[in-house]
Amino acid sequence: MSISKRQEDSGIVVAKLDDLLNWARLSSLWPVSFGIACCAIEMMGAMAATYDFDRFGVFPRATPRQADVMIIAGTVTFKMAERIKLLYEQMPEPKYVVSMGSCANCGGPYWQHGYHVVKGVDQVIPVDIYVQGCPPRPEALIGAFLELQKKIDKESLIEERFAKQV
Ligand code: SF4
Repeated sequence: MSISKRQEDSGIVVAKLDDLLNWARLSSLWPVSFGIACCAIEMMGAMAATYDFDRFGVFPRATPRQADVMIIAGTVTFKMAERIKLLYEQMPEPKYVVSMGSCANCGGPYWQHGYHVVKGVDQVIPVDIYVQGCPPRPEALIGAFLELQKKIDKESLIEERFAKQV
């Protein structure tokens, strides 16, 4: 967060509202708690004690209505794609999607012969960050969230809201 002016004597900090909102949002990213295939094991690894994703403010939520991030960790079949879209639509704005692993990015090992696999979850919902690998390690997922935090830090909710009203 960039603080425009600091009055240290009085203990008052003056900052742009956008900076404060962005700081709060990027420090408390809550992903919907679900996994689809083997990449989800690595995602769970990132949440467990060794990697301790909590220290970035990342807490999985068991409901899409209280989540602002969706991690697509695994193979997206056509059958599952409908459910993913439904869960995504139940999440409040602003919301973000991390596509984790080759399957979610482009169909992975099922690219050529997987008639039942969607060739990229971005054909179903918009994706903000792609994580490469089969499977990506927990460090890669953590790196993706750091990139997502940078993206959120540059956003302006105030401008977006104003633009919608005009
Ligand atoms: S990318 Fe690899 S590890 Fe991840 S779900 Fe697909 S096959 Fe499994």
